[in-house]
Amino acid sequence: MNTVIRTSGLTKHYGRVHALDGLDLDVAAGQVHGFLGPNGAGKTTTIRILLGLARATGGGVSVLGRDPWKDAAALHRRIAYVPGDVSVWPNLSGGESIDLLARLRGASTKDAAYRGERERLESAFQFDPRKKGRAYSKGNRQKVALIAAFAVPADLYILDEPTSGLDPLMEVVFRDEVARVRDAGATVLLSSHILSEVELLCDRVSIIRAGRVVESGTLAELRHLTRTEVSFAADDASALDGIPAAHDAAFADGRARFTVDSDAVASVLPALAQRSVTGLRIEPPSLEELFLRHYGDASAS
Ligand code: ATP
Repeated sequence: MNTVIRTSGLTKHYGRVHALDGLDLDVAAGQVHGFLGPNGAGKTTTIRILLGLARATGGGVSVLGRDPWKDAAALHRRIAYVPGDVSVWPNLSGGESIDLLARLRGASTKDAAYRGERERLESAFQFDPRKKGRAYSKGNRQKVALIAAFAVPADLYILDEPTSGLDPLMEVVFRDEVARVRDAGATVLLSSHILSEVELLCDRVSIIRAGRVVESGTLAELRHLTRTEVSFAADDASALDGIPAAHDAAFADGRARFTVDSDAVASVLPALAQRSVTGLRIEPPSLEELFLRHYGDASAS
C-alpha cells in the first residue's frame, strides 16, 4: 500500500525544548489516521513540519512522496488543512473567506461544481456566509475552514483538532464529510484529543507522547492492549468463583464484575452460560482507557 505520510526519527528542537524527539509516523493511502495525544505532545509541531511551515531539526519526512520544506507550494494544492483555531479576515464575509481559501488551493470559484459544493456544505453546516468575519464565533470560524477544505477535492486532508468549538450536531456533519472524502480515495490525518471522535472515524491510530509515537495500530490491535469488562446480576461474590482468565473480580450493588483480556472474552462465555447469568454486559475498552494507561497523571496537564 502507498504511504502518503512518512516521518522517521523526526526531531524538532526549540532551544532546549524537544518538541519532537524521534517521531516515526506512517500513514497509508486511503486511511483515516488518528493522531492522538495530550496538549503539548507535539501534534501541531508535526503538522507544521508536514505542511512545510516549520523545518525539522533532524530526521526524515515525506508527504505525497515529496519533501514538504522544499516542495510546499506544489504540495499545498493537493492538501486541505484545517487548524484547530481558525482566524478569518475581519472585513471579508464568510463566503468571501471560503472562496479565498479555496482559490489559494487552486480552485476556480466561479466553477458550478465548486459553487454547488460550497452551497451544499453551507447548508449541512448551517452556516450563514453573509456576515463579516469579525462577527463570527469560534465555531463559525471553524466552519469557514471546514467548508473551504471539503469544497475542493484534495489528496490529503490534514485536520488539527478540527471540531473544537463545534456543537455535537455539527460534529455529525463533520464525520459524514470525512467518510465521504475517504470513500473518494483521499487520505486523512486527524489530530485530536477527543477519543470518541477518533474511535468513530479512524482506521488506524498513532498515540503520541512527549514527541514520540508510543503506540500505532488499528483500533482492534490497540484494544488488545486493554481488558474488556464483563458484569452480570448476582446474589453474592460466590458467582465469580471458578471463572477462567478473570481479573479484578468484584461484587457490588447486586452485580458481579471482572475484566478479561480482550482476545480471551470467548473463553469465559461457557462458564457464564453454565451459571445461566442474567443482565450480562460485555463492554469493550475505550480509547479513554488506553489513553489513561499511557499518560496517567500527564493526561491532566
Ligand atoms: P496542543 O494540543 O496543545 O496544540 P500539541 O500536541 O500540538 O499540543 P505542540 O504544539 O506541537 O503540541 O507542542 C509541543 C511542545 O513544543 C510543547 O512543549 C510546546 O510548548 C513546544 N513548542 C511548540 N512550538 C514552539 C515554539 N514556537 N517555540 C518554543 N516551543 C514550542
